[in-house]
Amino acid sequence: MINKIKELEKLSRLLDPKESQREKWNSEVLDYSNTFINNLDTSKAFISSEENGKEIYNLDIEEQAIELAPLLDSTTKNIDGVGINPASGGHMGYIPGGGLYPSALGDYIASVSNRYAGVFYAAPGAVRLENMLIRWMCRLMDYPDNAFGNLTSGGSIANLMALVTAREVHNIKARDFEKSVIYLSEQAHHSILKAIRISGLSEAQLRYIPLDKELRLSPDMLEKAIIEDKKNGLIPFYINASFGTTNTGTIDPLESIAAIAKKHKLWFHVDAAYGGFFKLVHELDSKFKSIKEADSITLDPHKTLFIPYGTGTILIKNKENLLKAYHCLADYMQDIIGKEDEISPADISAEQTKHFRGMRLWLPLKLFGLRPFRAALEEKLYLTKYFYEEIQKITGFEVGPKPELSVAIFRYVPKNKNANLFNRELIEAIQKDGRIFLSSTNINNVFWIRIAVVQFRTHLEQIDLLLDIIKKLINQTLSE
Ligand SMILES: *Cc1c(COP(=O)(O)O)cnc(C)c1O
Repeated sequence: MINKIKELEKLSRLLDPKESQREKWNSEVLDYSNTFINNLDTSKAFISSEENGKEIYNLDIEEQAIELAPLLDSTTKNIDGVGINPASGGHMGYIPGGGLYPSALGDYIASVSNRYAGVFYAAPGAVRLENMLIRWMCRLMDYPDNAFGNLTSGGSIANLMALVTAREVHNIKARDFEKSVIYLSEQAHHSILKAIRISGLSEAQLRYIPLDKELRLSPDMLEKAIIEDKKNGLIPFYINASFGTTNTGTIDPLESIAAIAKKHKLWFHVDAAYGGFFKLVHELDSKFKSIKEADSITLDPHKTLFIPYGTGTILIKNKENLLKAYHCLADYMQDIIGKEDEISPADISAEQTKHFRGMRLWLPLKLFGLRPFRAALEEKLYLTKYFYEEIQKITGFEVGPKPELSVAIFRYVPKNKNANLFNRELIEAIQKDGRIFLSSTNINNVFWIRIAVVQFRTHLEQIDLLLDIIKKLINQTLSE
């Protein structure tokens, strides 16, 4: 048996490469990442091809080990070379992501040490770090000291966590589902609908509250609906408001909604996945005045803090509510309880073992300090305003509501063609060019083109390029 063990050990030790091997791999990955970043200036924001990365299937899992070089080559070609490039300053579609370099180093550190960041007892320092980040975000939102939260994989899970917390706190049981009412607007993010289904609440009543001209949820109609529902014996319990809708970056009237939620005792959730970190821009303070009234807030550091994908945040105003919804104690964890000076992230989320997400967030915030984040966000606001003004100077264009944050919608109104068709063709042409990536949306059966300035590498140069591309495409189409 000893011989067998030793034989196995020889193979299993391959999983723990020596320093020389590690250095070789590190330098190859470093070369790859330098090339990737250095080429961003000239690479496209969107590429669609026949192959679309199919050759990655040639590298399916096998018994045999292979070298790193061909894997990186294939990554460059089949992964980085097609689809939307989220690292490109030309990405202004949907809600662009970030990809700050120090986050990659943070992930590297987190993966090498593999700290068990779910449980204080196991990784006191890692848990302190995560909870320090949570408390920073609570302070940023002007939440009270008793607020708390959790780092999630993204905004969708944060929205789900808020809904589940509200369901538990309002003690809504299966027998009540049909009578429970959730209030939202047509502009709410579709992850809210997913959260409703996943949390078992699909039988609940959904009330879509009408929007005003600016596409904001109307508080008067909201209160009317709540009163009506109560009269009919229903159980109104949840309001979802948006701080920055995905479609148009619109901010729902938080102050009035908060007052209604308080008066009628409903849970008030603010989905600030896209808009939340604009709080760093002092100029916008007044827009954030009432966000602290929310019972829960969704933030997405992988959007407006420019962190790579995989980092969202849920904040809950009352820590006890979070514990009430999620805390479960397994018998084998009995040594731990009462001995912790920090809440364990695993006790307040659906996850137990989790990625040590704090490191990828903390490292860039510390290495850069907050100043460039504030500046970058303010720059994005001005770039959007600039685009909104410039596009109106091109004959034939009309725009949607004045941008509150960094999303705007616009469209071309042709004299003798169907406008929806024309704009669909226009966006297809922009996407085919690929240097800038934009997406579109549909509001009351009108096809709009959307611009979302969120990528940290988007500057004046990219906006001017976009205006140039649009002008050329319009002239081309008109002369056809
Ligand atoms: C992006 C977004 C979400 C979903 O967040 P993910 O991180 O993509 O899961 C939810 N709400 C709003 C307003 C968003 O912009």
